[in-house]
Amino acid sequence: MPRVVILRLGHRPERDKRITTHVGLTARALGAEGMLLASNDKGIKNAIEDVADRWGGSFYVENDVNWKSEIEKWKEEGGKVCHLSMYGINLPDATEDIKGCEKLMIVVGAEKVPTEIYDMADWNVAVGNQPHSEVAAVALTMDRIAQNEPLRQEFTDAELTIIPTEYGKRVIDNKSKE
Ligand code: SAM
Repeated sequence: MPRVVILRLGHRPERDKRITTHVGLTARALGAEGMLLASNDKGIKNAIEDVADRWGGSFYVENDVNWKSEIEKWKEEGGKVCHLSMYGINLPDATEDIKGCEKLMIVVGAEKVPTEIYDMADWNVAVGNQPHSEVAAVALTMDRIAQNEPLRQEFTDAELTIIPTEYGKRVIDNKSKE
């Protein structure tokens, strides 16, 4: 799977907190390295990085980025950009192409995205051509482009680790073992 960074556009602090947090947590759980937030909401960064501190890995959030310069910089460094939009080409028709790149920025909107994004993207990809959710769109895309099973990855330096169990909850507190 390519290295993946999410670019979250159009986040409105007064109404998108929960869904933007879920975009970040879902991307992290499926193997993305970080999320760039093109709005100013430090609470999102704090909430997601707090989860990453407890559950491991090194997922980061950059708050209040300029989306255009981030896309330009990413492309200058050889990265590719996949904008998720229900108007794009359907994911099954783009998966093989996307899998071949080394660095991938996945762009998701909230409110209407600037039309320039459609031209700047290497791929405008629909996760099915029906309206749904940015969380689902990120999850399905990351699952489809993964080389290895993304649900089996391990997170390093976790304070808490879940032991999968058929019934109930088993959680190891790694700090208490130190
Ligand atoms: N109302 C907004 C508009 O008209 O552009 C879209 C809202 S939608 C819930 C928010 C984001 O979810 C979109 O910008 C897109 O990134 C993602 N999304 C929703 N449905 C999608 C689909 N079928 N395929 C890919 N992305 C999708």
